[in-house]
Amino acid sequence: MVDLVSQYQKIKTEVDQAILEVISQATFIGGERVKSFKNNLEKYLNVKQVIPCANGTDALQIAFMALGLKPGDEVIVPAFTYVATAEVIALLHLKPILVDVNMDDFNIDVNEIIEAIGPKTKAIVPVHLFGQCANMEEIMKVANQHNLYLVEDNAQAIGSDYYFKNGKTQKAGTISDIGCTSFFPSKNLGCYGDGGAMFTNDEELGKKITMIANHGQSVQYYHDVVGVNSRLDTIQASVLDIKLKHLDEYAVSRRSAADYYDNAFKDHQHIITPFRNKHSSHVFHQYTLRITNGQRDALKEFLSLNQIPCAIYYPLPLYKQKAFAPFCEEVNYLPVTDQLCKEVISLPIHTELSPESQNIIIDKVLSFFK
Ligand SMILES: *Cc1c(COP(=O)(O)O)cnc(C)c1O
Repeated sequence: MVDLVSQYQKIKTEVDQAILEVISQATFIGGERVKSFKNNLEKYLNVKQVIPCANGTDALQIAFMALGLKPGDEVIVPAFTYVATAEVIALLHLKPILVDVNMDDFNIDVNEIIEAIGPKTKAIVPVHLFGQCANMEEIMKVANQHNLYLVEDNAQAIGSDYYFKNGKTQKAGTISDIGCTSFFPSKNLGCYGDGGAMFTNDEELGKKITMIANHGQSVQYYHDVVGVNSRLDTIQASVLDIKLKHLDEYAVSRRSAADYYDNAFKDHQHIITPFRNKHSSHVFHQYTLRITNGQRDALKEFLSLNQIPCAIYYPLPLYKQKAFAPFCEEVNYLPVTDQLCKEVISLPIHTELSPESQNIIIDKVLSFFK
């Protein structure tokens, strides 16, 4: 689905040197390189604070710990997302309220949020799925009206621009109280292991998050709150600091690959190409088609037999997962999520994809329908 080896070849000299330097100085945890990446990402995102951590799931968990929610408080999340979003909520004894998404951009449906708000609702988590933003302006209106926290799950949309109606632009993940991201290798900004970060413009929240990620201490061995141990290690920070310089150019490559696919599949009677919403730029973490003739699983099998990588994100809605059943007793039907889980299929998309490779993929997909 991604070609991280070819991507590495282009930055090999710089990356090798940076990693060797960390090893030769034995500065594996913390230090200048982590600070440098933190500062450079703050500048890139135009956000007051970036707090690096060990992975994207930790970022979400720490964000909810920092908001000080109480057991039983409800948090509204889209049902069509990666499990991590809802998992950390359940883990903290909060109640995930899974709601349906839009058929066009696959992001959380604002009307469904409004319907789900009750006396125990404390927060909403928009997930910027597959690389484009949820409708933050509308979601913020709802959050303000009901005095709810907003946490963006930005694991799939780092670098995407959000366009406000008044012409203002802001980077995805920096719009709400706390933004969370993942630097998992295959994400748009990926390291060579695990990594993650939280973003905030709120100084107090920033302090809390920093403390929680570091065993609840701001002075060593004096613990003010119960925290966790979640750090971005120095080797990962070094790699990310180098790759951050290429992030915009990586997005351009992904977008042009998406355009190329779009052109090949447009007007096909059984294929719906990815919708681009007006309020954000799409950084194409995934290129996801909808197959509308009920043959999605057969197509997947056909492509796999023909050595074409493809993937289903996501095959089973969260509310139908065994682990989440206890939280979803009242939910039994989310029509859009259900339909998407049966129709979506993602094709390879990455920074090194050539039109020649795309032609092979496209030919195979089209030949399935002949
Ligand atoms: C990848 C991902 C995460 C979790 O990130 P990890 O670094 O793997 O823990 C959370 N939410 C979404 C939407 C993701 O895609």
